Amino acid sequence: MALKLIVLAFHDSTEQALRMTSWYIPHETKPGEINNLLQFNAHWKLSIHLTSPRVNRPFDAMPHFYIMLDTVARNAETGQPIWSQFPALYEAYADARVSCGLFDEDTRIVLEHVLQACDALTKPPMMPVHARLMSRIHLANVLQRLGQDPVAQREHTEWAAQMLRKNPRLVLIDKLHQVFARDDPPHPVLTALGGQKWLARISRTPTAGMDERLLRRCETCRVREPQKTLFRCAACGMVWYCSKQCQKEGWQTHKEICKGFLQQKADIDKIRQTDPSLAQFVEDFFGWRDAACSNRLYAYSCALGLHRDPSRGRTHLIMGELEYTPQVSKDVRFKFRVTKCGVFRIEDVLVDIESLATLKNGAGRRYVDKYMQEADAMDRTKTRTPILVFMGVPGRRPLLKPYSWALDSLREFPHTQDWRDLVNNKGAPPECLRLRSRAQDAEFVF
Ligand SMILES: [Zn+2]
Ligand SMILES: [Zn+2]
Repeated sequence: MALKLIVLAFHDSTEQALRMTSWYIPHETKPGEINNLLQFNAHWKLSIHLTSPRVNRPFDAMPHFYIMLDTVARNAETGQPIWSQFPALYEAYADARVSCGLFDEDTRIVLEHVLQACDALTKPPMMPVHARLMSRIHLANVLQRLGQDPVAQREHTEWAAQMLRKNPRLVLIDKLHQVFARDDPPHPVLTALGGQKWLARISRTPTAGMDERLLRRCETCRVREPQKTLFRCAACGMVWYCSKQCQKEGWQTHKEICKGFLQQKADIDKIRQTDPSLAQFVEDFFGWRDAACSNRLYAYSCALGLHRDPSRGRTHLIMGELEYTPQVSKDVRFKFRVTKCGVFRIEDVLVDIESLATLKNGAGRRYVDKYMQEADAMDRTKTRTPILVFMGVPGRRPLLKPYSWALDSLREFPHTQDWRDLVNNKGAPPECLRLRSRAQDAEFVF
């Protein structure tokens, strides 16, 4: 409803009024384009909201899609098909048509256009593998219902099933439930996977293997399996590459990090000689911190409010306290539980970081910047945002850990305000964190 009012407001307001209400910050946009731009943005947000699995009102989204398609058709450059100029819009539109149950010729054509757009983009930023997968899942279904082209139908089914078998969390679980919900006739891809039983099995907490495969990408060009087969850095075993070429190109940035991992292992071995239980704790802590854990990173991206403002990865960080729980599971992802956490503006908590990490007064800024640079070094394609996390067990020195989160994941993993439920996977969700400096939690402060 709020967005609908905004659409109306943009439609009826003059450019001057929009400027005065600070809806529009002028940059190089030509005069007269601003209302259109803001309107388009609101239509886009509204249609994404209406088609999301939780809201699931695709029919209400359709008018907004028609307006957007009309707009891009007017503004498109000639000589290139429109769908290849606006692939994300066509992907969302195709998905909405299927959600509406429009299993017709038009839907088939739109889906095939999305696949063509995927093929056309071979250099980064490539279409996320997600777009290709969703389109083929839908095509398998649409072709079956149309009773057309059984060869292509089977090919799409097998490709999509193989992909999901390998990497079941590539599509958000709510989305899979939405897509596979209609079972009259059953969805051919779900049948190929083993039916509702398969869906129930993968709906439980993702296994370590699922998480690892989901986050595995070439460190240099970010390509994912099965677009290419990846191999590990033989020295540290912590990062992946798609080719010798990518490994060579990435060495300059990976060199220091690789050395760091090896040093970490050597340090733990040294501690083990004098204090085996401390060595185990340190090993578990690093293991927990470095483990691929899709839910935890997804939760942090929501906590930071990156969907609303992706630049908050640079101005805010997650702080928290941990509990050591080695008895819970052999799986390293569960050896710690986040007991408290919150989102803070970095400027507000430098004093806390200095005292917790036992740094000199005034050294906090440089300490944070160092890790921010490490996160940026992981982002060679400039399509990612840093996520900084500062956590530790009370009584022990916490450490700052930089993660790097692909911005295209923000669309695949929509914002959820229930992110605290995702942080731990197992056990109670974290409570709010209060800091000694009384710095205010900034989750809702934009
Ligand atoms: Zn590569
Ligand atoms: Zn390495």
